[in-house]
Amino acid sequence: MREHKWDLIKILLSAIILIFGVVASTLGWFNSTVNIIIFAAAYILAGYEVILESVRNILKGKIFDENFLMSIASIGAFIVGQYGEAVFVMLFFGIGELFEHIAEDRSRKSISAIAQIRPDTARLITESGEVTVSAESINIGDIISVNPGEIIPLDGVIADGASSVNTSAITGESLPVDAAVGDKVYSGCVNLSGVVKIRVTEVFSNSTASKILELIENSNKKKANAERFITRFARYYTPIVVILALIVAVIPSIITKNYSVWIYRALMFLVVSCPCALVVSVPLTYFAGIGGAAKKGILIKGGSAIEALSGAKIIAFDKTGTLTKGDFSVVAVHPEKIDEKTLLMIAAAAEYNSNHPISVSLKAAYGKLPDDIKISSLKEIAGKGVSAQIGEKSVLVGNDKLMSDNSIVFHSCHHSGTIVHVAVDGEYYGHIVISDSLKPQSKSAISTLKASGIKTVMLTGDCEHRALEVADELCIDEFYANLLPEDKIKRVNVYAADNKLAFVGDGINDAPVLASSDVGIAMGALGSDAAIEEADIVIMDDNPEKIVTAKTISKKVSEIVWQNIYFSIGVKMIILILSVLGVCNMWVASFADVGVLVLAVLNSIRAAIK
Ligand code: ADP
Ligand code: MG
Repeated sequence: MREHKWDLIKILLSAIILIFGVVASTLGWFNSTVNIIIFAAAYILAGYEVILESVRNILKGKIFDENFLMSIASIGAFIVGQYGEAVFVMLFFGIGELFEHIAEDRSRKSISAIAQIRPDTARLITESGEVTVSAESINIGDIISVNPGEIIPLDGVIADGASSVNTSAITGESLPVDAAVGDKVYSGCVNLSGVVKIRVTEVFSNSTASKILELIENSNKKKANAERFITRFARYYTPIVVILALIVAVIPSIITKNYSVWIYRALMFLVVSCPCALVVSVPLTYFAGIGGAAKKGILIKGGSAIEALSGAKIIAFDKTGTLTKGDFSVVAVHPEKIDEKTLLMIAAAAEYNSNHPISVSLKAAYGKLPDDIKISSLKEIAGKGVSAQIGEKSVLVGNDKLMSDNSIVFHSCHHSGTIVHVAVDGEYYGHIVISDSLKPQSKSAISTLKASGIKTVMLTGDCEHRALEVADELCIDEFYANLLPEDKIKRVNVYAADNKLAFVGDGINDAPVLASSDVGIAMGALGSDAAIEEADIVIMDDNPEKIVTAKTISKKVSEIVWQNIYFSIGVKMIILILSVLGVCNMWVASFADVGVLVLAVLNSIRAAIK
């Protein structure tokens, strides 16, 4: 509110001078020059920024915007001697803008819970004890200490101690998560119960809290997306209005010879036709929607994402980690040549560096790797598996495709689940069957979406057999299996040719797909940088029902946007006709204009509430 103080003072001052001017000129206190000076003072106070802005935009080549419209309408009114009207137009425009800023601030406040998530300092453990230093000076590999009740300042792995962590500031979910030695913890989460020492894995600027803050700041900027829509609208609309106003000013004047009446009506025409209710309320609606969604752990990167999601007719899901939990359990280990334990160890070692849910599960299933094991040349082959050098041997761990690519003869398995083959130095060493369970909310999410007329599709890199099981269980409309990330992009493009499509993925392997669909939605984004960067909408936790929430919010926001558009254009049309007919004057026109604006803004604020 403090930052609007000057705006408010300007408006009040200008209003007082205007009232004084109207009273003074009505009662004839001063001569006309003094009256003009009084009105000019009020006018400049209320309007100098608008005029400067329109000049700035003209210099940038953007001639026809609402600032321009307001400027010429009010300057024109001043020139034809309608001083009070000129001030009134600018004053009300200013009130509208102030109204917008306050509403915008309110929405921003709802996001500011998230802005509190990044502490500036950290307690670094040094040889001489703990020192509090700025979080920015911490390097990867440093150990920091975090007490219960403190916010974790940087991403890292717990090196000592155990605790539970509250991720709600980031995910919107209030259930605490247990964390012990070896577990990854993220900045922005609150350490709840025990003192922990954390080995830092990301510098300050790359830590989750910074990433999220950056995203939110950019989503404020991406208000520009929605504004672009209005600017686009104004690009055609404003020149048309200016031309129509010119016609109103010239043709009837020539015919009737009644110049001042028609010029006045033309100016009124400009005031009424100002798209400010739209210019203000449309971006605000998007912004309020973004704020409301953020509270629920859904980060939306701007109005265009909302627009696109609300129009999406198809929602395509990645399977692993999106519809399924992604924590695979080992169903069977079928080694050839070696024992089960060694097969699992080789697989876990080769997966050492990968974040893929399969890797994480295999590593967890084996436990701590022997200290003397030498792992190098770790490579991830998206949609297929991994390769690595373990000691002297080159190891491949992955699916059928990976084996065929390397001409390795493999065996299939009768167990249901995902089969992970292991090959060492070109020889088949057997496979591990792992199985992943569905997320408890997947089924209801899919059925709610289907009930609202959306086509659901599953695109997975897993085998046909497992894909069919999942699709059947969830009653998904269509599915495609054995897809590499690039195949997923092709599929998405096939669908997107006819309909708007949203793709939901977990950001592991599918960041390119997220980036190439109309709306990319990343789930369980906590800890996945690629997802946060590439997606248009980021769901911080991994609850698929949030997709339904995001869809509902975006639909509501779009509805409000269109209500405002129809309402303001409708009212304006009526007043336009009345003003051309000479039934109303500029005060009424200006009042109606701002009345529409205020109602539209109040309607916009509804977008934040669900
Ligand atoms: P999804 O589309 O289901 O999310 P991905 O595209 O991530 O699946 O992976 C597709 C398939 O590739 C997996 O089902 C698995 O067979 C294989 N794969 C991918 N990454 C790995 C890995 N790190 N280790 C073993 N297999 C993998
Ligand atoms: Mg995946």
